[in-house]
Formats: sequence, C-alpha cells, structure tokens
Amino acid sequence: MYRSLNEELREKFGEKVYKLALEGGFSCPNRDGTLGTGGCIFCLGGSGDFAEKPSGNIFEQIEKAKIRVEKKNPSGKYIAYFQSYTNTYAPVSYLKKIFSEAISHPDIVALSIGTRPDCLPDEVVELLSELNKTKPVWVELGLQTIHPETAGYIRRGYELSVFDSAVERLKRAGIYVIVHMIIGLPGETPEMIFETAEYIGKSGADGIKLQLLHVLSGTDLAKDYESGKFRTLELDEYINILEECIRRIPPKMTVHRLTGDGSKKYLIAPLWSADKKRVLNAINSAFAKDKLEQGEHL
Ligand code: SF4
Repeated sequence: MYRSLNEELREKFGEKVYKLALEGGFSCPNRDGTLGTGGCIFCLGGSGDFAEKPSGNIFEQIEKAKIRVEKKNPSGKYIAYFQSYTNTYAPVSYLKKIFSEAISHPDIVALSIGTRPDCLPDEVVELLSELNKTKPVWVELGLQTIHPETAGYIRRGYELSVFDSAVERLKRAGIYVIVHMIIGLPGETPEMIFETAEYIGKSGADGIKLQLLHVLSGTDLAKDYESGKFRTLELDEYINILEECIRRIPPKMTVHRLTGDGSKKYLIAPLWSADKKRVLNAINSAFAKDKLEQGEHL
C-alpha cells in the first residue's frame, strides 16, 4: 500500500540500518532572535528529544550512541542523524567539519540532516552535494503545512515558495529530500491536511514523515490547548486521515514515519499517542483491513 522506510533501507543498504541521533550544537533562527525568540508554537526546543547531548566530538558521540542500539542492529550500519534544532544554521566551514567527521566513521552509511528550507543557501547545498559523493546525504525539511494561516499560527517563519525553492535546489544537487508534515494542527480540516500531503507528493521530494500533532508542556501550544482553543485527534480519526494522506502521495514516495516520536515526559495530549506500539499496531491492522477490502493480497 505504501513504500516503507525499511523497504528503502533494504534496497539501498542490503539490510536494516539504524539512525543515530547526534547533536551538532546548533541553534535555530526561530529561537535566537533572527526570526523570533519563541520558536514554532509546538516546539520544546529542537525536535530531537532523543538526540545525543553534546559531549565530545562527533566520532565520540557516534561510538556512545552505538552502544545503546548495538544489540538490536546486527548489520552494524548506521545513519548519522542530526535532528535537533536547525542543522544547517552555521558557517559552511563548521558544517563541513562536523558532517565530514560523521561520514568518515566506517559504520556510518549515510547522513541525514534535519533543517529549515530558509537555512539552505547555495553554498550549503553545494557542500551537501560534495558530501553526497562520498556517502548519501538526506535532508529533512520541516514544512508541517502548506496553508499560510496555519503556518502563521505555528510561527513557522517562512513562505511556501521558500520550501519550493529549497526542494528544487536540493534535487538539482542530487540530494535525497524528506518532508515533514503535521496532522492535526489547530484550525485545519481533514481536506486541508490532505492538500498538504498531496502538495508534498508533487513537490519532487523522495520521502515524507507524517507526524501526529503532540501538545507538549511548556510550549505556547499547550497554553492554547489548556484554554480550550482546539482539541487533539482521536486515534481512529488519525488513522482515517493518515490513510487518505497516503492515498494522495505517489506510490514511489517513501513513508519515513507514520506517527511521531514525541517526548512522553512532556506529553499533554493526545495521551493515546504515548503507547507507540499500540498506535502502530492499530495503523497496521487498519491498513491491512483496507488492503483486503480492496482485494489485494497481504
Ligand atoms: S524550526 Fe525547528 S527547532 Fe526551530 S523553533 Fe521550529 S521546530 Fe523548533
């Protein structure tokens, strides 16, 4: 029904590969005062709650992070994942240093970089293109929505045309692009959410991360939630929306995520999302049922 990340990893690397979340010590223009100080309305301070806290150089971080997942990863191959904050928001010389260090590790087979589309000047795209000649480089863009009113509410801080230009330049440079979208943003109808999925499907990106909106304590979103300005989705609503989003993207587009990895420690709503295993089981059985109804074999 959809192309999964595991399928893609097996095709590209011959087996399952684990991501190691690393910390490059970056900030974000939406937090340091360049665009704003409050950050996106849902953000707790970088979306990488599980990233390795900065300690030592990248090589040391990789070694430490490997210890935690070694037993689950017989392949011994890893993707270096720079997830927290905006991982291209620094001088090119610094980016070159840390990303080169990451891909020089023999167990690292690819580099994945989470960033904002407005933090990808041409010289950074050039650098990523150079690194891509040594090991595959993936860039993850946090679009979240195509709708300007929602983008304004969440304080995203850039226009849709900036996203379009970033995808176009990255693809021209041969970079693999993944786009993040959030399902359940306040004020969005299901149709608006489907439109975002469809737009990403046509954008030229290679992969999509579909993520449920999490309300985390300490965020401005939590204040709006607690004052009753919006409600979060129920599990069955989420699954129905997810299925339609997947129908709207091309079959060749890889689905990198179907739910989310929000921090349980700070989660206010929806609480059902804390049980990730249950959520994934519910999604898989709903998808399997649909397949049977459509007369396909599992
Ligand atoms: S761009 Fe990312 S790190 Fe920056 S405020 Fe938004 S979600 Fe947080």
